[in-house]
Amino acid sequence: MEHISYGRHSIDKSDIDGVVRALKSDRITQGPAVPEFEAALCRYTGAEYAVAVSSGTAALHISCLAAGIGKGDRVITSPMTFLATANSVLYCGGKPVFADVHEDTANIDPEEIKKKITKKVKAIIPVHFAGHPADLEEIRSIADKHDLTVIEDACHALGAEYKGSRIGACKHSDMTVFSFHPVKHITTGEGGAVTTNRKDLYEKLLMLRNHGITREKEKLGRWDGPWYYEQQMLGFNYRISDFQCALGISQLQRLDTFLKRRRRIVDYYNKQFSSIDGLILPVERPYVRSSWHIYCVKFRRYSRRKKIFEGLHRAGIGAQIHYIPVHLQPYYRGNFGYKRGDYPKAEEHYRKTTTIPLYPKMEGTEKCHVANILRTLLK
Ligand SMILES: *Cc1c(COP(=O)(O)O)cnc(C)c1O
Repeated sequence: MEHISYGRHSIDKSDIDGVVRALKSDRITQGPAVPEFEAALCRYTGAEYAVAVSSGTAALHISCLAAGIGKGDRVITSPMTFLATANSVLYCGGKPVFADVHEDTANIDPEEIKKKITKKVKAIIPVHFAGHPADLEEIRSIADKHDLTVIEDACHALGAEYKGSRIGACKHSDMTVFSFHPVKHITTGEGGAVTTNRKDLYEKLLMLRNHGITREKEKLGRWDGPWYYEQQMLGFNYRISDFQCALGISQLQRLDTFLKRRRRIVDYYNKQFSSIDGLILPVERPYVRSSWHIYCVKFRRYSRRKKIFEGLHRAGIGAQIHYIPVHLQPYYRGNFGYKRGDYPKAEEHYRKTTTIPLYPKMEGTEKCHVANILRTLLK
């Protein structure tokens, strides 16, 4: 059996045809496919506005900037995430303050958020770990009390639902960030997006994507002629190209199929592993629908993890660890003094869990192989 990676994209003929059409058109960047993709994201998520950009990291960065994060500001986020979440706060001159996670979902715990609130805190970035939505109502109510912006890092959670509303609809947040990296639910190669219902944020995001430039007449300080534009803030080139958005449009049409397939594999794993002692399976709270970005199994005993991880790799199974807690990275320890023991639940999750392969294109034989090998290793 070939190597089975923990996640991978699924590209079919409709995707390729869409990209080829875009490549043959007059404009391969900043053409019609970008707003079309954005409109499709709005329709899917239920948000009023969407801004597509070059990566999920870029989307997080401009969201923090649009929220007004700057020097000296603090932003509360989860240590159980990819580095990009916390780094985006640093890009703005702010400081990420971590709050520990729930033991079962590995999502940020609102009670821990409350302990970290100070006058300097300006925003909260919950991460929907593995595609399981965080406690958005509780987080929103904390944010409202202290006048904070809520930015959802939904890079794992396209297609997930929380209490009947789609992630990305921004029902309990100001902005939601997605990534279209190939291991995520849909891909544009590299790419990302921000959704929001707030027009003020939408207009800032558009400018931040493109050097801080506006050409809209009513926003200009003066008018020199039809060529005239103004740079009104410091933005970036975070644009995404038309052929990437063409891929995004066709991938989005396949998303529901992808989600169904992911869930079917999860059901299979749950059934295969439910009776194994020493193994704790991922949960799905009754009021959410997870988008199942990854499937993390937890071993009751730390000591088993490394052996099993190595055994999986020897059998050609690309197990992963999600994640090394961000506060334990040398950069964060060195610059902010974080240390082992600061976030015990996130650290325990790191020590005890392993991610096994889960992606829509997984064949029946592949998922059987993964389940059999894991069961054998656990004996
Ligand atoms: C993938 C990911 C990102 C970054 O997205 P890129 O598109 O790779 O820049 C940020 N946060 C989380 C939780 C992610 O999984």
